[in-house]
Amino acid sequence: MMMNANMNVIANPVTLLEAKNLVKHYSVSQGLFKPKATARALDGVSFSLQPGKTLAVVGESGCGKSTLARQITMIEPPTGGELWMDGANIADADRATLKRVRPLVQMVFQNPYASLNPRKKVGQMLEEPLIINTGLNAGERADKARAMMAKVGLRPEHYSRYPHMFSGGQRQRVAIARALMLDPKVIVADEPVSALDVSIQAQVLNLLMDLQQASGVAYLFISHNLSVVEHIADDVLVMYLGKTVEHGSKQQVFSRPLHPYTRALLASTPRIDPAQRQQKMMLPGELPSPLAPPPGCSFNNRCPYAVERCRQEVPVLREFGGSMVACHRVEEIH
Ligand code: SF4
Repeated sequence: MMMNANMNVIANPVTLLEAKNLVKHYSVSQGLFKPKATARALDGVSFSLQPGKTLAVVGESGCGKSTLARQITMIEPPTGGELWMDGANIADADRATLKRVRPLVQMVFQNPYASLNPRKKVGQMLEEPLIINTGLNAGERADKARAMMAKVGLRPEHYSRYPHMFSGGQRQRVAIARALMLDPKVIVADEPVSALDVSIQAQVLNLLMDLQQASGVAYLFISHNLSVVEHIADDVLVMYLGKTVEHGSKQQVFSRPLHPYTRALLASTPRIDPAQRQQKMMLPGELPSPLAPPPGCSFNNRCPYAVERCRQEVPVLREFGGSMVACHRVEEIH
């Protein structure tokens, strides 16, 4: 595996999706007669995603994970950088290109109770994307919907039922089936199991993995829950205040976390294997506002290893021990 320090891309001959220094800044009003402030929600994030692979994006609420999801699903355009999908830079694409590329990326949301239309039957919901994006007739659409229901573990009679007639796990199966109807290449899954009972979470994660194995779909899996990430990810990208602070394979990140923030996140995650348990390290304080990040390393006000340099100089993302990490003191800490 080769790392490129500028692009933070894990090189692979087949890349489905590639983000290069992706930026999303929002202009935020601070009240009458005050100049607008800039929230750096996404501040130069790079990665690549290969077919059949899962990249987990982790971090606390407010770290930029959901902003990243909105760029990749083309809900809103980035402020800067490049986002390549199917030969097109969708950060800078015309309407015709966006129309072509949009169906290739689908989304599964956190809350299956809110993401499904309560007035539509399952069959209708599954066929809707086919009506908009394909020339299939009614019979063909129904066949495809029923086949997809079988793949996600729903029974034929569910076709005519409304969302309120299902359990949370079944509703998320409907949401996953809907996301797969157009044979996307990438699914952005934003906390897809965090609203479900723990007993159901593993079933839905296993379903996602089975579907991936069968279809080769890639997942960008957004989660704050590292035990879920450990179950499903191939690679892990850790974000803090809109920036990548660590990016590596799941094995590397979980067995040898490099960045103090990753270490703190892992230390607060229950691990089954005692050998994997980290020394307890709680995160003091809260995530600073993206409107006023601390100077230098944006983690410096919470980091037990911070020194003067950390308060003055922004650490660059660089290769260390097979992963990418943004920390001035990674050599000393390890
Ligand atoms: Fe901590 Fe300094 Fe490393 Fe930032 S650069 S994570 S403050 S040691």
